Amino acid sequence: MVTGRSHTSLLGLEHDEIAAFVEQAGEPAYRAQQILDAVYRQKVESAEQISTLPQQFRQDLEGQGVSVGWPRIENKFVSEDGTVRYLIAFADGQSVETVWMPEGDGGEAGDGSEAGDSAEGNRARNWDRATICVSSQVGCAVDCQFCLTALLGIERNLTAGEIVAQVCAVLKDQKVSPPEDRINLVFMGMGEPFLNYDNFMKAVRLLVKYVGIAEPRMTVSTAGIVPRIHDFGLEPTRPKLAISLNASNDELRSRLMPLNRKWNLEKLLAAARDFPLRPRERITFEYVLLREVNDGAEHATEVVELLRGIRAKLNLIALNPGPGIGFATPADERVLTFQKILRKAGIPAFVRRPRGRDIYAACGQLKRTVEIQPAMESQML
Ligand code: SF4
Repeated sequence: MVTGRSHTSLLGLEHDEIAAFVEQAGEPAYRAQQILDAVYRQKVESAEQISTLPQQFRQDLEGQGVSVGWPRIENKFVSEDGTVRYLIAFADGQSVETVWMPEGDGGEAGDGSEAGDSAEGNRARNWDRATICVSSQVGCAVDCQFCLTALLGIERNLTAGEIVAQVCAVLKDQKVSPPEDRINLVFMGMGEPFLNYDNFMKAVRLLVKYVGIAEPRMTVSTAGIVPRIHDFGLEPTRPKLAISLNASNDELRSRLMPLNRKWNLEKLLAAARDFPLRPRERITFEYVLLREVNDGAEHATEVVELLRGIRAKLNLIALNPGPGIGFATPADERVLTFQKILRKAGIPAFVRRPRGRDIYAACGQLKRTVEIQPAMESQML
């Protein structure tokens, strides 16, 4: 609601919330839908740009401290594989990273000089879908030992509006709009979404209802906040669930992911077993392979035992290296042996191709890096 002269951002508000201040302003009820369309579909950046509203109402909104809450793209790095890493800043100057990954046959956007062409242009380049990796917090408190974001610590939660704003800013910059363009979202950027649960869930509802991204196209990854996994299973509108596993026994997992001391494998896998899956849905388990730490055949055999009775699939991610991380990338043959053991046991296991590793955009690499190697400077926008 608009309250006096305090600041209100339209991004992040649902229909009822906008309808309330439309009514308060004495404007007809249909103005709420006009505002929703302008903010979430047309992606206007200021109240002044909502051309369907009378000039006086637009001025009143701005006078009352109502803004769209549009974020600023502070920096943009383009990978040789077409991935784009955005540094996106909010009103208080805090920033997060959001990653654009075009996919499909011939999907790489080359040197990035064409990034941002029209949707038609994107189709001409033959990418047929794209995934946006979205952040939920500034930094992260979970402290996974192989993750660069963990080095930042936690600064603050993002609001629902800020989570949605990242998606809208990237869609607008890439000149694409769902549902016409096939866009997937993964909530796997900076932060642990289930430690910012209410804002995250509100963002999901807004993205489904107003931005046009269907919930089966969204996946959220948790490090294992067990009580929230239970809550999430009860949500009427929810993305698919991914769990960041990364170890095959408690001793190893507690070393790599300190939160395992609070919610150990027994509790985590019990929550996974209880999780109400939809028909044909599986829980994705993510497993970052660290050389000579968790990548042995014995670990793969333990994982098979852990996942018994769970409709699961496993994504294997060879560590994306980074400064300050005391682990190394495993040899290819160890990754393939690990995958083979899982597949032989009937668990679908996929080796995930790293995206944007050269620009620190890959999994576990998001820490607002702005210092990049000289070789990348020509590709920095
Ligand atoms: S892997 Fe995810 S949960 Fe773990 S520290 Fe990094 S951002 Fe946080």
